[in-house]
Amino acid sequence: MRIVLLGAPGSGKGTQAKFLVEKHNIPHISTGDLLRGAIAAQTALGLAAKEVMDKGNLVSDDIVLGMLKERVTQEDAKNGFILDGFPRNLAQAEMLEALLKELDMALDHALLIEVNPDEVVERIAKRAEIEGRSDDTEEVVRNRLNVYKEQTAPVAEYYKNQNIVTEIMGTGTIEDVQERIEAALRF
Ligand code: ADP
Repeated sequence: MRIVLLGAPGSGKGTQAKFLVEKHNIPHISTGDLLRGAIAAQTALGLAAKEVMDKGNLVSDDIVLGMLKERVTQEDAKNGFILDGFPRNLAQAEMLEALLKELDMALDHALLIEVNPDEVVERIAKRAEIEGRSDDTEEVVRNRLNVYKEQTAPVAEYYKNQNIVTEIMGTGTIEDVQERIEAALRF
């Protein structure tokens, strides 16, 4: 099963991805995590990406696509994956489609996790206290939400046109959201 998780920063994509990994035995591929890994490893790519990420802007499509391609073609992703944080704009959605075609693969589901902006801001503020991510400051979060609205929200439309989107109410407990996702995947 090949799933794309869509939703604003703080909508719970990472949390839900963890459950999907256990339940369906497919890897979680998060471009945010891949980028943070490159930063931690202090690669040249990581250093360049950090500056962009700390402002809440999108890292260049080429860099992210390169990382994604490397990850998606690994053995453990052969039977499926959960994509989180990619595609983040229409160009990336088209790149993903081309890449999957090349690999003779197709997406099964795009899950759009919906949480209102006020709640998202509140959740990220809480996460900032616990995790201390450098892009979780109030100003940067505001920019990330704008970037989401302008560049990432159209990706949901792109998949709606392909009839693979299910909207998932992202509020309630983590288990509530998990159940809604499982129900959506049964179709
Ligand atoms: P969140 O969903 O909470 O914003 P992520 O971990 O998915 O967090 O992303 C953090 C940052 O990493 C983004 O603000 C962006 O700078 C960069 N990033 C992640 N994925 C992509 C992508 N597909 N394209 C460009 N930049 C990305």
